[in-house]
Amino acid sequence: MRSAVRALGRGLLKRCPRCGHGRLFRRYFGLVPRCPGCGLRFEREEGYWVGAMIVNIAVTELTFGIVLVAGILLWWPDVPWAALTVVAVAVNAIVPVVFYPWSKTIWMALDVLLHRMDVRDKDAAGDGHAGPRVFDRKTIRP
Ligand SMILES: [Zn+2]
Repeated sequence: MRSAVRALGRGLLKRCPRCGHGRLFRRYFGLVPRCPGCGLRFEREEGYWVGAMIVNIAVTELTFGIVLVAGILLWWPDVPWAALTVVAVAVNAIVPVVFYPWSKTIWMALDVLLHRMDVRDKDAAGDGHAGPRVFDRKTIRP
């Protein structure tokens, strides 16, 4: 439980979920391929970032729902629907862009927790394989 809280906390701080190292983004949208601290390869397989997209959409729609319900409750019964619609559209346009880096680090934290990379497979986490190795890649590299 403590490792889950720690990994998710690191994700919320845009840090590596395994070692806690920062500076994972070169630019706002530019994630480095490997952790500078522990060497964890972030994009572990093709389609890996679909999980980050799901995290981003979930946070966006949760924010949208909170804003919509708060607006309705705040102005009930004379709800300014046009203004609330503009705000709701703005939330759906702005939140995914602003939340983008956190969606990746939070997804990486969830992935580390799901694959238990903090406990085992430390070596495998660096080369993108979660399962047992069939061959040693170091021996075929020049
Ligand atoms: Zn790391």
